Amino acid sequence: MNKPSLLDFTQKELFTLIKPTFRVKQIFGWLYHNYANDYDEMKNIPKALKEELAEKYIVNPMKIVKKEESIDGTIKYLFELQDGKTIESVWLKMKNEEIDCDGNLVHEAKYTICVSTQVGCKVGCSFCLTAKGGFTRDLSAGEIVAQVVALKRDNDHKHNRMINIVYMGMGEPLDNLNNLAKAIEIFKEDEGLAISAKRQTVSTSGLSNKIDKLGEMDLGVHIAISLHAVDDALRTELIPMNKAHNIASIIEAVKRFPIDTRKRVMFEYLVIKNKNDDIASAKKLVKLLTDIKAKVNLIYFNPYAGTTYERPSKDSMVAFQEYLINHGLLCTIRDSKGIDISAACGQLKEQTQKEVS
Ligand code: SAH
Ligand code: SF4
Repeated sequence: MNKPSLLDFTQKELFTLIKPTFRVKQIFGWLYHNYANDYDEMKNIPKALKEELAEKYIVNPMKIVKKEESIDGTIKYLFELQDGKTIESVWLKMKNEEIDCDGNLVHEAKYTICVSTQVGCKVGCSFCLTAKGGFTRDLSAGEIVAQVVALKRDNDHKHNRMINIVYMGMGEPLDNLNNLAKAIEIFKEDEGLAISAKRQTVSTSGLSNKIDKLGEMDLGVHIAISLHAVDDALRTELIPMNKAHNIASIIEAVKRFPIDTRKRVMFEYLVIKNKNDDIASAKKLVKLLTDIKAKVNLIYFNPYAGTTYERPSKDSMVAFQEYLINHGLLCTIRDSKGIDISAACGQLKEQTQKEVS
């Protein structure tokens, strides 16, 4: 059975579980400032307390079993959880460090961590490799938190260096809302990683009732909507649960979501050749997003063995982007980070399973 991890708890909860208070503060430091993997590393904690804790809680609930590094600085990790299941996380280099002509550091490199929230996914999108393996289970809050701790540790990224988190790995975050919300709170802890909600973006395939719930929790996180289609027939082909949560219901939920007035809601649009890459779709997209402070992120479909969908041409991507920009929408094309490794989510796991079998 899975043992709870020390990473499953907020500091306040640990205060009720461990006495005295100053020990909790020390343990918190070991967890989030030193990224301790086990009790042995916690030098100033008495042996008796460590033994008592070890009976109930493990420190880190998973280990890195595979790592793939891209020439662009992207690193993809495969983790094994306590029950032997595997998940992926990605370390993304968003900006290179800059050094001036005198050799002084102008700014440090900037990184984003893409985390998983479930083993597998229930949503079953027809273009997504994660969906192919079905759904196994939700991740605990500690298993979500542990991905960031492990990646910061592995990359020697000091606790006070800023990092952004995107919940865009395996799984549908809003389908695991309570554990997601808890992880967001733990990331925010001042004496922990202190990653503000503003630096955290939840990507969802559009469970509109859960978008409302997340909004009601008022955590301060950003949302990204995986829209991918502008009419319900195509969207249902791509994302079957669109039948229950159609485009109109998502747009309404987004309008109700508490958004920082300086920010925009990100709409992800996965572009698939001859499916949704035409200008007529771009036109409908402009119409759909008229009353929303939106930003569109176009994503190249990343093909894998066995899919019938194809990657769009660069020309159609650029034409689509230009149409949106010319009609007043902010629009970027996501650069395919880690294209030389197993780029899209689910691909490293898939590849490892093939190697094993
Ligand atoms: N379940 C959430 C978050 C995880 S999926 C969601 O769907 O938003 C994260 C992103 O990966 C989604 O935007 C999804 O569209 C994208 N994705 C999935 N399969 C892909 C593929 N083969 N090529 C490119 N992007 C893909
Ligand atoms: Fe799940 Fe997102 Fe993949 Fe759809 S794209 S199956 S919601 S992980």
